[in-house]
Amino acid sequence: MLAIEELEAGYGDARVLQGISLGVAAHEIVALIGANGSGKTTLARAVSGLLPVNSGRILLDGDPIERLSPRARLGLGIAQVPEGRQIVFGLTVRENLRLGAYTQRYRLGERGLAQRTAEVCRHFPALLERRDALAGNLSGGQQQMLAIARALMIKPRLLVLDEPSLGLAPVLVAEIFRLIAGLRKDGLAILLSEQNARMSLAIADRAYVIEKGRVALEGTGAALLGNPEVAERYLGVGKGAAGAGEESESRHAVLVRGLAQILGAGAAR
Ligand code: ATP
Repeated sequence: MLAIEELEAGYGDARVLQGISLGVAAHEIVALIGANGSGKTTLARAVSGLLPVNSGRILLDGDPIERLSPRARLGLGIAQVPEGRQIVFGLTVRENLRLGAYTQRYRLGERGLAQRTAEVCRHFPALLERRDALAGNLSGGQQQMLAIARALMIKPRLLVLDEPSLGLAPVLVAEIFRLIAGLRKDGLAILLSEQNARMSLAIADRAYVIEKGRVALEGTGAALLGNPEVAERYLGVGKGAAGAGEESESRHAVLVRGLAQILGAGAAR
């Protein structure tokens, strides 16, 4: 569905993406993992059109979209959940959700908007309960759910998720990842950029390791979870992991199994 070819983008003289190429198929969760500053957020912003590209191509179903406006890309079904959520604290949950469908407000009308809100909230019972609460009064986990729900209001084909677990307590992190894994079941393709490599690899069909604006490694989520180099550098397992001490491969296997249990059968393949 989405193909990124030799993409270059950055900020002024800072060349962040240096010829990155990757793809996301329909109904697939594709994770991007990498150290701070490797370019994950920059890639997410380039895909949704918030950052202009210098060269290379972004193709949606084979058509180039890299010069389209963010609004035009929304119209094609690409929705982004930005890092830091960026929900409007002074508006209610319901109002934030309606903002998500702003570009479709005339087509949907009042009835359509209410119906879409109800459909989206089916994935988020906690939001439904608090639909008249101010977004600023929600817990961190609920705010992240609201940011995801808002993006779903346009019925996207591709959801670009940037650091959805940032700043959340471990129990909420597991809940957010379980929710993301569940969204794919509805036929959505997901490009997931995350610091939490362990969780994102566990739910990803495929993943790319990004280093200095390029793809350094790629494979299935399961293959990268089991890759000793990835384990050492990004999962805090093994000799070289900063602060992790020496953990054996069997310890790693235990962690992966535990995660599979948290996420439920079938999520961690
Ligand atoms: P993080 O997890 O820390 O967000 P990341 O992999 O998402 O890491 P990016 O946010 O894409 O990385 O940043 C890539 C590089 O671009 C970094 O060196 C960062 O300092 C730089 N950068 C990011 N945003 C800007 C900006 N608005 N202006 C200038 N440089 C920027």
